This record gives sequence, C-alpha cells and structure tokens, in this order.
Amino acid sequence: MLTARTVARETISYEEVAEPVLEQGRALVRIHHVTLCGTDLHIWEDDYPAELPVVQGHEFSGVVEAIGHNAAGIRTGDRVAVSPMTYCGTCRPCLQGRFNVCRNISCIGCYSDGALVEVLSVPVDKLCPVPEGLALELAAMAEPASIAMQAVNRGRPAAGETALVLGSGPIGLLATLYLTDLGVDVVCADTEADRLELARAFGAVDTLLVDPAACFPDAEQAARLGRLTEGYGPGLVLEATGAPSSLENAIRLVAGAGRIVQVGISARSATVSMKDIPFKELDLLGSRNSLNLIPGGLALLARHPDQARALMTHRFGFADLQQAYELMRSRTEKVGKILIEMPAALGSGTGPETAFAGAPA
Ligand SMILES: [Zn+2]
Ligand SMILES: [Zn+2]
Repeated sequence: MLTARTVARETISYEEVAEPVLEQGRALVRIHHVTLCGTDLHIWEDDYPAELPVVQGHEFSGVVEAIGHNAAGIRTGDRVAVSPMTYCGTCRPCLQGRFNVCRNISCIGCYSDGALVEVLSVPVDKLCPVPEGLALELAAMAEPASIAMQAVNRGRPAAGETALVLGSGPIGLLATLYLTDLGVDVVCADTEADRLELARAFGAVDTLLVDPAACFPDAEQAARLGRLTEGYGPGLVLEATGAPSSLENAIRLVAGAGRIVQVGISARSATVSMKDIPFKELDLLGSRNSLNLIPGGLALLARHPDQARALMTHRFGFADLQQAYELMRSRTEKVGKILIEMPAALGSGTGPETAFAGAPA
C-alpha cells in the first residue's frame, strides 16, 4: 500500500509499505478522507514540536477493515472517525480527568504516523462510529469540531446570553454552530467579509468586520454590541485567531465577571492590561484538544450537514498533497478546510458513501 511521509521541510515522499497486520486491542481502518488544518501546515513547514519524518493526517475517517472482539461492538465494514489524541492515564492531569493536557500526550498524525496512508492500525478505543446519514467526508471534520466544542464548554455557556467569537475560521465557525445549538446569541468578528457571511450561515445573530488598521470596535460596532448586551459587553468571548491584538480586544470587550476562552494558538506575545483582569474579575481560560468530544463533534456535524459542507472549500486526491499544502501556505485564496480524498473514497462506489452521491450539497 501507499503512504505519504513528510520527510523534511515541505517535502512529501510517497512510499510503498506493507499493510499493517491486526494486533490485539487494535483495528485496521481503511482511510477514506483526511482533512488538513493549520497544525498540518506547521508540521509540513517543520515549524512544530513534532519530529520529521512523520506520516501526517490527524483529522480522518474511514471504514473498519479488520477488528477483533471489542466492548463497543464495532464490526468490520463500520464507518468510523478516530480520536487521534493519546494520553497516559497516570500523570496528574490525567488523574484529575484533564487528560487533554496529559503530560505524555501524543497525537496520531502529529507525533506518530497518521492517516495519509491507505490502511492505518489504531487502538480500538479510539474508534468513533459515524452516525447514519453523515457522509464520511464530513465525518473527517469531527476532530476540529471537537476542538471547537471543548473551547465552548470551557467557557460555561448559558442559554440566552451573548457570546463574541473572534475569528471565523473553521474553529470559530464550528464554535458558533455549537453555541447557537446551546441557545447562545453569537456575534462573530473577523477581518474578512466573506468569512462573516459564512458566520451568519452558522448561526451568528450579528457580525463585526475588523479593520486591522483601525481600533476595534468602531463607534457604530460598539453601539451594536452594546445593544445586544444591554450595555454590559459579551459575558463570554472566544478567541479563535491566535492574533495578540485579538486577545487584547477580548479582555477589553468582555463584561465584568465574564469568561474568555483562548483557543487560537500562537508563539507571539500579547500585551495584557494588569488592571482589566482583576477589576472585571475575569476568568481567562485556555482550551486544548478535547475531553473525548469526537462523538459530540460527529453529532454536531450530523445535525448541520449543510454548514459542514460549506466549510470544505477545496478537495485534492491523495497524489496531490504537495499542491494542497502549497495552497494552504499561499493564503492567496479563501481556504476553509481542505479535504484529501484517499484511494478508497474514489474506489468501487459500492460502499456506504454511494448513498450520498448526488445528494444536494
Ligand atoms: Zn487539526
Ligand atoms: Zn497523562
């Protein structure tokens, strides 16, 4: 079978390797779809803590090819997404139930070989059955959906309140979708007007276009935000850009006694007021990975297939990975999620995917 290994900075090598054999406690999954994210771009650019060479692909779905007896009752032929995060279960964060920040955390497709291969062996307990009716290609996005849901959960959202989501990339949009499901009124802010248009389709009640050269919000935007929050400001702000100025905006705009969740990641430093955090008695919360929210992510996508499909802006075949990464790096086009169609997805056409061929987008 064929695998695509990232062997050096911006270099992918296609290699013929032996198919894995079924081992105790594991399953073989024939990979159908992989989606790429910013983390993938950083690994490919060799600008990430992971060591090269590595086979990338941590957001993926496929069909179980072989599996032994398992408590979950998953069988050969079942459609699955996979939770790529692995943790030790014995370190202090793990024992506190916070295994998403395990000291020995690892991730399939980041620190160990992932899904850019035809068949992957994965631990049985990482398999998550795909709900009937959810296309396998959309199921690959359960991982970013789980990241967005974790960020929302960290913020302790309450139905009826107003949240501000800074950044309308895939994580910000999926968080908007989930917050809206929870009965929260979401205002989205981004520097790109077309992303904000998408944010409305994901449930945002209002959107604020950010001009990076001017102060945010401007007077008119501040008045709108004030009207939506009875003059208090949003009780919950999700920072999903990783831009230092965005965290600064969050601290300035959040209501007293409010919560800020930082899910955007950047090595850059923000300038944070030493006054606002105590004066407003803010909860400044980080969010990383998720507490086993892949099944929740699958359910979110299954509830909103049209929005999930709208997130996927580009698709490439397995042979065209180089092109896919170059597109992500160029940032010249409006890129949402990039879908990689593995050979199995383009195969016989007799699989469960057939039911979705020709389904309305
Ligand atoms: Zn990712
Ligand atoms: Zn641990």
